[in-house]
Amino acid sequence: MVVGDFAIELDTVVIGAGPGGYVAAIRAAQMGQKVAIIEREFIGGVCLNVGCIPSKALIAAGHHYQESIDSTLFGVTTKEVAIDFEKTQAWKDNQVVKSLTTGVGMLLKKNKVEIIEGEAFFVDDHTLRVIHPDSAQTYSFNHAIVATGSRPIEIPGFKFAGRVLDSTGGLNLKEIPKKFVIIGGGVIGAELGGAYANLGSEVTIIEGSPSILPTYEKDMVKVVLDDFAKKGVKVVTSALAKEAIDNGDSVTVKYQVDGQEATITADYVMVTVGRRANTDDLGLEQAGIEIGERGLIPVDSQGRTNVANIFAIGDIVAGASLAHKASYEAKIAAEAIAGKKVVVDYKAMPAVAFTDPELASVGMTVAEAKAASIEAKGYKFPFAGNGRAISLGKTEGFVRLVTTVDDNVIIGAQIAGVGASDMISELALAIESGMNAEDIALTIHPHPSLGEITMDTAELALGLPIHI
Ligand SMILES: Cc1cc2nc3c(=O)[nH]c(=O)nc-3n(C[C@H](O)[C@H](O)[C@H](O)COP(=O)(O)OP(=O)(O)OC[C@H]3O[C@@H](n4cnc5c(N)ncnc54)[C@H](O)[C@@H]3O)c2cc1C
Repeated sequence: MVVGDFAIELDTVVIGAGPGGYVAAIRAAQMGQKVAIIEREFIGGVCLNVGCIPSKALIAAGHHYQESIDSTLFGVTTKEVAIDFEKTQAWKDNQVVKSLTTGVGMLLKKNKVEIIEGEAFFVDDHTLRVIHPDSAQTYSFNHAIVATGSRPIEIPGFKFAGRVLDSTGGLNLKEIPKKFVIIGGGVIGAELGGAYANLGSEVTIIEGSPSILPTYEKDMVKVVLDDFAKKGVKVVTSALAKEAIDNGDSVTVKYQVDGQEATITADYVMVTVGRRANTDDLGLEQAGIEIGERGLIPVDSQGRTNVANIFAIGDIVAGASLAHKASYEAKIAAEAIAGKKVVVDYKAMPAVAFTDPELASVGMTVAEAKAASIEAKGYKFPFAGNGRAISLGKTEGFVRLVTTVDDNVIIGAQIAGVGASDMISELALAIESGMNAEDIALTIHPHPSLGEITMDTAELALGLPIHI
């Protein structure tokens, strides 16, 4: 089984230190296990290094720039606004990303989790080999949690190199592109498209399906499309991206729309058409772990694979690729290993797009409730009816509550509007705890706050609206 060296024994080993892996390692250590985490590239994984966090930093920089250029609504005028993008990137890398990843490293150490640098491969269902550029070591383990995440999908004709970028390339640009083409108008494409448009780029999004942000309700997407129209972001839908030609100092993108061939030349093209699970070069078959469709690992309600002592979490299992989903599954898997009777329950799993304005959803839409034969209704209250939104100058959007017809139980919510990413948590809690509209309506919300829109929507659902 083990050749050439002796195996170091571990209780629980975690592979991958993203928001799935590092959370799993800490929770397993809290449960009293001897834990090691193996990471081949960066503590914090995609999310902290080249995903959630740096993208939000660029989005914030774009907002600051736009507000500096135009705050005339508030009587503020400015002269000669400039952006030093090198400084923006240095702030993002050194102050935002680094402080978080260093913090995660410290948390791991504080919880006595051993950090092993290198790439892990399964030798069998109780043995791993870790390869480092200048060393290799074998470990035996009782339990493993696989949290190896995902990587950008490359499409034919768009090989990542030079001016053809994946999302990481898009985040790490040294200059703000004058013209920027994005293939794929999902959450990542729409967020970064909006960020670069705010930073001054002329952005074109080429999307294969009939709408951008297809996982969100049409009326939510319309609020973002209205903003894109104001920003001058061009959105081409039902279009087939065919090829990118790197001209050295520019890139020409060929695509097909309405049966016609079209081309656009830009400084860079970024392809964000989805991500593929990192399950193909890990030796999973040597441990007997089944791999399902699209490289995802089938797991039970505790995250256990078909091999009883090995768990899988995060982007490598079914469901949305979201950091908080990975962390949630991490805690369940670690606690299951410790013998706790825990199972996943996704009914209150929020999703957010950090567009302008933000979109956030949790639970069911009216259509999903109907498909599940639940009699439900949606109640929608506009941001324009809220004092805080008006005083912020951000009145676009709405809150919708989806409640059951017979007893007003909240089963879903969709928010399009400023602060949606924070507002959605109250509704996730409401769904998780089985609250009804009356519970929200009876909760005193501070004035003036965006949270009052949620209370107003609940009152609307009860037929007692004050502000509409
Ligand atoms: C641009 C962008 C923006 C995003 N924004 C958001 C957002 O706002 N909110 C949100 O919820 N999600 C967001 N996501 C998605 C989020 O980043 C992922 O869902 C999340 O990182 C998944 O966590 P994970 O732990 O499963 O995997 P990852 O974060 O991918 O971590 C996996 C880790 O495993 C390591 N690894 C892989 N194979 C091995 C091996 N064999 N040996 C050792 N180590 C290995 C990798 O190096 C990596 O560090 C974004 C993603 C991108 C790309």
